[in-house]
Amino acid sequence: MTKKLLNLGFIDEFGNDLNQKHVVNFSYLMFCASCLFMVVMFFYRQMPSIAFFSFMGLVVGLVGLRYNYIGLFSRAQLLMPIVKIGQITILSLFYFGSASGFHWLFVNVIAYSFIVFRADQRFIKYWVVAGSVVLFLVCEFLNTKGLYLTSPDQSIVLTAVFLCVCFYFAVVINLVMSRLKAVNSHLRTLAERDELTGLSNRRKVLADAVNIFADSVINRESCVFSIVDLDHFKKINDTFGHEAGDLVLAQVAAMMASVIRPQDEIGRYGGEEFIVIMRNTNLKQAEAVMERLRCSVENMLIETELGIVIPVTISAGLASIAPNVSRYEEILAQADKSLYVAKRNGRNRISLQLNYQN
Ligand code: GH3
Ligand code: MG
Ligand code: MG
Repeated sequence: MTKKLLNLGFIDEFGNDLNQKHVVNFSYLMFCASCLFMVVMFFYRQMPSIAFFSFMGLVVGLVGLRYNYIGLFSRAQLLMPIVKIGQITILSLFYFGSASGFHWLFVNVIAYSFIVFRADQRFIKYWVVAGSVVLFLVCEFLNTKGLYLTSPDQSIVLTAVFLCVCFYFAVVINLVMSRLKAVNSHLRTLAERDELTGLSNRRKVLADAVNIFADSVINRESCVFSIVDLDHFKKINDTFGHEAGDLVLAQVAAMMASVIRPQDEIGRYGGEEFIVIMRNTNLKQAEAVMERLRCSVENMLIETELGIVIPVTISAGLASIAPNVSRYEEILAQADKSLYVAKRNGRNRISLQLNYQN
């Protein structure tokens, strides 16, 4: 619910200033809630002038929320500090008095300006901060008396202001943190995914290879690495164009990702080569998986924009962990040798590690 309210009017998950928009929305929600609370309270206490003043604040707050909702973000962004500065100054000077500490809410306005205004809005930011500081000092040192509030009332206002400032900071910090987390995971995706195929990129799949290799050695489990290479891919590029080549790569990658088992890892090794890592699997089982993969690719119907079907096949070399192997690179090198054998024997086939073949 809170998230829905904070996201009011925003669709773009990765918008650059999403955090600012959240803070603006949150500030309006806080503002409207506090105005509503004051309307009810002062109406109940039969103080119609403050109730009416708060009601006006509520209306302006709702206007700001509406601006945000219909996409007038800059207007909403600017209206908030203006209306807040006005409200705090008038209530503090003419209603609550300095002893209430109501003017400490200027801290929220200052925090708001630092977070919400961008570098190109420096001018407005510093005006809002400077105005808030000056008016804070005026409220603090003018020593006005509360017109309507008794001294216990003033303590209540002070407590409410304290809680409000704490809550504001807690939520704003939370928003910034969740934004950082979202950006972080987005960066991780960028760093680990291959853009064309959507599979793990070379860095990620090799990092997985290290971990899976180490786990398999420690647990004394068999593990198979396979290098898959598209056959005569250069010819596909030359015949159908580079764009069609890209399409083939993306579709073959998607097909392979859908055919491997959930426990297997796949990634783009580079160019038209892929790595498949099959943990807890012996060579025979791995051969069956890769054979299924080879058949699926062979039977694919990839069409160019002109409706021409591009024939695609793959070759794969397989190698498994052996007792005398201490680095995963050695298995990859073995798989590469097997791949070479598959190519030499006519392509569109799977080839196993030499010393396992009989
Ligand atoms: P082989 O059957 O022996 O593997 O022959 P091949 O033509 O597939 O192998 P070769 O290494 O000669 O050519 C690979 C080609 O893959 C060359 C390169 O232009 C192309 N290639 C590499 N990356 C991409 C890519 O991202 N998109 C496209 N369209 N082509 C790529
Ligand atoms: Mg190649
Ligand atoms: Mg190739």
